Amino acid sequence: MTAEGDIRDLLVIGGGINGCGVARDAAGRGLSVTLAEMSDLASATSSASTKLFHGGLRYLEYFEFRLVRESLIERETLLRAMPHIAWPMRFVLPYHPDMRFESDTPTSKLLNTFMPWMRGRRPAWLIRLGLLLYDTLGGRKILPGTTTVDLATAPEGRALQPRFAKAYEYSDCWVEDARLVVLNARDAEARGARIMTRTQVTSAEAQGGLWNVTLKDTRTGASQIIRARTIVNAGGPWVGDVIRDTVHSRSTDSVRLVRGSHIVTRRLFAHDKCYFFQGTDGRIMFAIPYETDFTLIGTTDQEHEGPDTPPVCTPEEQAYMVDFVNAYLAQPISVEDIVWTYSGVRPLYDDGSSSATAATRDYTLKVDKTAGAPVINIFGGKITTYRRLAEGVMDLVSDLSPDLPGKWTAGVPLPGGDFAVSEVEAKIADLARAYPFLSAAWARRMIRAYGTDAHNVLGTAKAASDLGQDFGATLTAAEVDWLMDREYASIADDIVWRRTKLGLRLAGQEIATLETYMQRRDNAAAAE
Ligand SMILES: Cc1cc2nc3c(=O)[nH]c(=O)nc-3n(C[C@H](O)[C@H](O)[C@H](O)COP(=O)(O)OP(=O)(O)OC[C@H]3O[C@@H](n4cnc5c(N)ncnc54)[C@H](O)[C@@H]3O)c2cc1C
Repeated sequence: MTAEGDIRDLLVIGGGINGCGVARDAAGRGLSVTLAEMSDLASATSSASTKLFHGGLRYLEYFEFRLVRESLIERETLLRAMPHIAWPMRFVLPYHPDMRFESDTPTSKLLNTFMPWMRGRRPAWLIRLGLLLYDTLGGRKILPGTTTVDLATAPEGRALQPRFAKAYEYSDCWVEDARLVVLNARDAEARGARIMTRTQVTSAEAQGGLWNVTLKDTRTGASQIIRARTIVNAGGPWVGDVIRDTVHSRSTDSVRLVRGSHIVTRRLFAHDKCYFFQGTDGRIMFAIPYETDFTLIGTTDQEHEGPDTPPVCTPEEQAYMVDFVNAYLAQPISVEDIVWTYSGVRPLYDDGSSSATAATRDYTLKVDKTAGAPVINIFGGKITTYRRLAEGVMDLVSDLSPDLPGKWTAGVPLPGGDFAVSEVEAKIADLARAYPFLSAAWARRMIRAYGTDAHNVLGTAKAASDLGQDFGATLTAAEVDWLMDREYASIADDIVWRRTKLGLRLAGQEIATLETYMQRRDNAAAAE
């Protein structure tokens, strides 16, 4: 097989947040970009996060000031660019003197030296100091600062055991992680990128300083070769496999795979704030209001054996998270209360840390030319830093092709996000007025998923029946068609667990009906 067509400036391997963020930034600077994702967009780590745009309060204990500062500043930049899929959230951190550090953080080592009588406990003044830094490092304009909460009287105290008398409350943001990925892909495509899902990069051979890259359609098995000047390896958990087996580089950088799991229960508390619980083992756990009727609890840190081992939330992890939150909740939960679990693998740069919790969450970008043409390998990173990471990748690309235009993504909204953070409720009300047949929850879901594009999804419908087949839980054919035509969805899972989270509400039979509809639609399109 020989290479066909033009030479692409960039071939991005991986349609997680980092690959899609890089594709968008590069396409916006005029580069020709092809992105290949072997499964669905966000099918790996980028749909399995805790879904926070956050500075990472706990990273302060590891003295990761660069990462925390960059992430804190980034929160508001991102929030402004996507006020539909991201929103401010308040975090309630109950204080109790028994909460301890993980023993090998630099902060705990310092404290053990100067205040050995604390025996690993996290003193209140240190939490206060951390929150003061958190409030000031990142130049907040939209998000409110830290306050103190009297749990005996505040509504946030009701869900907690009475031994928790006091809490600190601070700000971070929520983001719909899988939708973030797909909106970056859509914007990249609108700016000229080629987005190829269900397309695996099976090999890449350097020839005369260019890459000949073999792409395999994972549905049909058909292969094609394309040429590219630079490869961006955004393979996430597979970054090491791509280095070794696909581009055959001699790089010695390696990835550390750390699994994190979450459990979902029915809603455990009445308010819309999130809890930040500290454990006696030094770890932390979030309990977050989720999809209106649920609570999301996570996460864990477990070494994970290999990228091809599907991450699952083990019974031990489930029991650990249940016990963790039960140390706080007034009404304890049990594993029987779990309605869904999910698990993802952090592709961290192997910095030789002793524990999975301690391994750096910062990103590391490496240019590697040992295979005869350039490849940029991406390790680590956060959902929160994806835009900055993409700019970092572009800095490296500009060393290779010097006339590249400058940074542009800060302040440019993602599709559907062209309104102010303060206008969300008005947008929901506008949609409900324009489509009076929508229930309040349906109108909210549409704006939170699609922003101003919700009007394009619903089109000229005057009644719910105009939206075609009803699959349940407010999912209709009009929305499914949009997701297949505009958001790269091809099987039911793409829709019920990534483009939406309606899998929490739809019955098995309803999902099967959706699958049949999507297959028929795919077959009809193929026959045309
Ligand atoms: C439990 C957990 C909680 C987290 N919580 C947060 C949080 O709250 N906030 C935050 O900011 N960050 C969080 N993170 C971190 C964040 O989720 C990750 O850093 C980010 O999703 C990594 O994205 P990625 O694009 O590098 O990898 P991925 O999303 O895994 O994408 C890599 C993609 O590459 C594809 N691929 C691999 N090899 C090939 C190939 N040969 N051909 C084609 N495609 C290929 C894969 O199919 C995959 O889709 C969390 C992570 C975990 C695991």
